[in-house]
Amino acid sequence: LGTPALEALQHADVAALLPRPTGESDKYRRGVVGVAAGSRRYPGAAVLAVSGALRGGAGAVRYAGPGGAAVLARHPETLVSTGSPHSAGRVQAWVVGPGLGDTAEARTAVDDALAADVPVLVDADGLRLLTPEAVRRRTAPTVLTPHAGEAAALLGRAREEVEAGRLRAVRELAARFGATVLLKGSTTLVADPDPERPVRVNATGIAWLATAGSGDVLSGLTGSLLAAGLAARDAASVGAYLHGLAARLSEVPLTALDLADALPRAWRNVS
Ligand code: AMP
Ligand code: MG
Repeated sequence: LGTPALEALQHADVAALLPRPTGESDKYRRGVVGVAAGSRRYPGAAVLAVSGALRGGAGAVRYAGPGGAAVLARHPETLVSTGSPHSAGRVQAWVVGPGLGDTAEARTAVDDALAADVPVLVDADGLRLLTPEAVRRRTAPTVLTPHAGEAAALLGRAREEVEAGRLRAVRELAARFGATVLLKGSTTLVADPDPERPVRVNATGIAWLATAGSGDVLSGLTGSLLAAGLAARDAASVGAYLHGLAARLSEVPLTALDLADALPRAWRNVS
């Protein structure tokens, strides 16, 4: 029969994959996430991505970029620096892109993150500054998290075409970039760069997730799981699972920050 084309994670799979601190844990070994997001124009994206990373269970979050004041106002535990990822200090995974804009600084942030020899998640504005060659050249895993419009831009096609063939689109992107690709929408698809692996489908989300900034929280959360050492496809699919569950456990209408606040309940619900 061969390998099935699709698979879904079950509650028990997610529980088994969730990183949990042990007696030997310290904050560095639990995973330090670097977040390069936000800009003078969109400082809020920095706050949302950092919230997702902290509530994703990171031992610490380093923020690099111009949104440090807004980040600290909400999350005083963040290690903030104003430069690019290159000068931010050691992390176990980078999240780059939400609210980054398309300035020279944004480009440097993406290039610096991709140059680090750790897993990198690229989302939102970061996706516009990527080339397949820059991603393929990496040795550590890369995770791309486009919605249909961003996926269409990456493929050079119309959004309608991506929406009409989501499975094909996510597989094509994974092959072209040699990356794990998480395609957002009413369900979430996660394709591995290895075409033999089935695409994972997540359907825990609800339509109230279609709200500004919700993807930024998912990026931080998934980055946290990468920093904890989960394989790229596991981090992406567990991230989507918990993000959807957090929405179900939120009062509606929900806001993006509500999702970060609901992550502890999602975590308890799974464990
Ligand atoms: P973004 O487009 O980057 O803000 O991300 C939006 C997030 O909300 C992603 O996690 C999507 O999968 C999710 N989402 C958007 N629309 C829906 C929907 N109609 N049903 C379920 N989840 C959705
Ligand atoms: Mg987005």
